[in-house]
Order: sequence, then C-alpha cells, then structure tokens
Amino acid sequence: MKRGAKTPEGKPLWYARGIEYWDDVDASVDGVLGGFAHVSAPDARDNAKLLKDARAASASRDDGERTAALDCGAGIGRVTSTFLIEHFDEVDLVEPCAHFLNAAKADAAVRGDGREDGHRAVGFFAQPLETFTPECGRYDVVWIQWCIGHLTDEDLVAFLIRCKAGLKEGGFIVMKENNANVGFTLDLEDSSITRSHEYLLHIIEKTGMRCVEHRQQTGFPLELFPVRMYVIKP
Ligand code: SAH
Repeated sequence: MKRGAKTPEGKPLWYARGIEYWDDVDASVDGVLGGFAHVSAPDARDNAKLLKDARAASASRDDGERTAALDCGAGIGRVTSTFLIEHFDEVDLVEPCAHFLNAAKADAAVRGDGREDGHRAVGFFAQPLETFTPECGRYDVVWIQWCIGHLTDEDLVAFLIRCKAGLKEGGFIVMKENNANVGFTLDLEDSSITRSHEYLLHIIEKTGMRCVEHRQQTGFPLELFPVRMYVIKP
C-alpha cells in the first residue's frame, strides 16, 4: 500500500480498509472475537478482577457522583454488557461500524434495560477513535479493548492524550490488547498491527502518562496471542 494513500473521500486508505473489513463481519460475539466467542467469559472475568484491583489502588472518590466509563471500539457492546455495565452507573460506547453500533443500541443487556441498580448505557457515538474526543472530565475509566491495532502510532498517542483529558480526577485508562512476540505483526486483511509488549509500553511512555500496572490475561487458548491489560494513569 502506498504510504499516505487516500480514498476519493479523503480518508486514509489504511483506515478505510479496516472499516471495510469489519463492515462484512457478523454483528455477533463470534464475529467481533474472530470465531473465539468462548473467550468472552474468561475475558470478562479477568477484566472485573483488574478493575477491582485498579480501583482499590486509586484515590477513592466517593463523592456520590454517578460513575461513568467509556467503551472504545465497542463493537456490539460485548465489553459493556459482560462487564462495564455491572460496575458503572453510566457507560458510553464509541464504535465506527454502523451495524455493530446499531446492534449494541438494540441489545437490552448493553442498554441496561430493567436493571435494578439503574446502570445504563447512555451515549452511542458512531466514530473511529482517530477522530473521537471524549468529553472533558467525564470518565472514571476509559476502557480500550482489541481495537488500537487499527490506529497508527501517531493517532494512538494523540487519542490516549485526549482520553487523559476525558478522565475525572482519580480516573484511569485500561488498554487491553494482543501482544506480538517481537516488534509488530502486520495484518493487511483487516488493516491492523499487533504490537509487542515493549512497543505498547513505548507508546504509553510517549503520552506522558504512567503505566502503573500490566497484567496478562489467563485461561485463553494457547494458539492465541498473549493478551495484556495496561492500567494507565495521568
Ligand atoms: N472491543 C470490542 C470489539 C472488538 S473487534 C470487543 O472486545 O468485543 C474490533 C473493533 O474495532 C470492531 O468493532 C471494529 O469496528 C473496531 N474498529 C475498527 N477500526 C476502528 C477505528 N479506527 N477506531 C475505533 N474502532 C475501530
């Protein structure tokens, strides 16, 4: 692919191809997980553990204000419905593919319909992360799972810096991603790269924030890339 190539609408070809790929994928758990729907349960379990520990280690901010999380590259809202909605009063979702976001909007488990705790999904933003700016100071946690491979280094660093501005005091970002063994692995089919652990730490360093913890996902099939969660604080 020619570096800097653009579509007739002026969108970088790298990004247009990524969206084209996902536009053809089923709006299902198996679809967004590339045929590995069965990892969704261990994924949600380790997410909950990490969130609990990271919250315990953060300055608690029990001011009675409603808590809010942002689910980035949310797909059909799997991370929201299996985990975030349990832990936050409000969840917003940002996702560029219309058929995924529409499926999320139509899913009662994502919206939080009928929950006794009143937790609910509030915002559904139809945008890619490279152009999205989270609302200033709104979020306790910004959760970014299995989507940053679509962003260039420059756009990823800039997005993380915009996320920092979207955090409440005491808030943090969690990035959960596959790890390549060394350097990075390029996938031209879905227009994504899988970065190594060291590469991701370097990206975080470039944002001027701190990676206060990283933890490997447990219980996944061995044929998959190792997956890590990174807790990032301003
Ligand atoms: N995070 C969800 C979905 C993972 S699938 C989950 O864990 O279930 C990867 C998601 O990244 C898809 O929903 C895809 O549409 C989205 N995506 C692709 N390009 C993106 C971009 N530029 N910005 C944000 N999300 C993107």
